[in-house]
Amino acid sequence: MNTISHALDTLLQRFPEADIRRDEPMSRHTSFRIGGAVRAMLFPKSAEEMKGFLQTLREAGVEPLVIGNGTNLLVQDGELDLVVIKTQSGLSQIRRTGETEITAGSGTLLSRLAVFAQEQGLGGIEFAHGIPGTLGGAVLMNAGAYGGEMKDVVVKTAALAPDGGEVTVEGEAHGFAYRKSRFEESGEVILASTLSLYKKDPGEIAREMEALAQRRRESQPLTLPSAGSTFKRPKTGYAAALIDEAGLKGFRIGGAAVSEKHAGFVVNLGGATFGDVLAVMEHIQKTVFARCGVELEPEVRIIRAYGRP
Ligand SMILES: Cc1cc2nc3c(=O)[nH]c(=O)nc-3n(C[C@H](O)[C@H](O)[C@H](O)COP(=O)(O)OP(=O)(O)OC[C@H]3O[C@@H](n4cnc5c(N)ncnc54)[C@H](O)[C@@H]3O)c2cc1C
Repeated sequence: MNTISHALDTLLQRFPEADIRRDEPMSRHTSFRIGGAVRAMLFPKSAEEMKGFLQTLREAGVEPLVIGNGTNLLVQDGELDLVVIKTQSGLSQIRRTGETEITAGSGTLLSRLAVFAQEQGLGGIEFAHGIPGTLGGAVLMNAGAYGGEMKDVVVKTAALAPDGGEVTVEGEAHGFAYRKSRFEESGEVILASTLSLYKKDPGEIAREMEALAQRRRESQPLTLPSAGSTFKRPKTGYAAALIDEAGLKGFRIGGAAVSEKHAGFVVNLGGATFGDVLAVMEHIQKTVFARCGVELEPEVRIIRAYGRP
């Protein structure tokens, strides 16, 4: 029997009540609305269930892809020989754990987290209110916006090491840098993080979050599927400005195009394939490099998986 089939059978025996969906299209779980059907998607309802899923898969020799809300992913089309664990919704408990501290599950949406903090009169996470991902996804890539970054607020993270051991990561050990953290390399799965915030008037926080939302609506193509900024900020200049100056706004291949509203975004105009988006990205990289010698590095995570046996 195929390794994944065996792992799924064992999972169903051990967790008969678990939410496990076979042949689940990734396009339903990515903000790009792109991605083929994976062998199975698992939706853990608690950190305990997550640990059990990971242990069962590890025993069977299956390495799953753990995702949050799929808002930074470009996933291959077709039938994918992959097991995905989605944290969003199941691992989303939020608690106030100190005078100015909040601890939340990795599947908590940043918008919900920011609103919870606002209601508690805690400031510091307003910048993340409009980022459509989860806390886990944001910690992994040190997400940031409007001058704030996760590294400014995250002080502790509970994670599972690839061997199943529980790890507590504190402060500097997160290895935060521009759109980076230790979790990219470590293979650890993030379960929950603690944020250190500060007391602030809830009304003022609400006004600031609304002002940032307004800025996003004015400058970003929020009505079209995308994965946000396609490329990281290069050492010199801004990716969006370099793409705009290269005359690439509106450049289109198949259903994928450089947004007319914000050159930093590649958008799905309808029916875009994995290949369409990759081709647009490659054209951008080649054109910008030829024009000004800057190499643009993707910020979007590109997920390639082997086809089904
Ligand atoms: C319209 C739009 C606007 C955006 N604006 C911004 C912005 O202003 N700033 C910004 O930084 N980003 C922005 N993004 C990108 C994206 O929302 C962020 O990168 C976000 O942090 C991704 O979170 P996610 O939960 O969707 O992660 P996913 O896309 O699901 O996953 C991203 C990566 O994190 C890993 N991962 C997810 N959860 C875990 C976990 N629990 N443990 C281990 N690894 C995990 C995945 O394997 C993957 O490698 C935007 C995207 C869109 C569509």
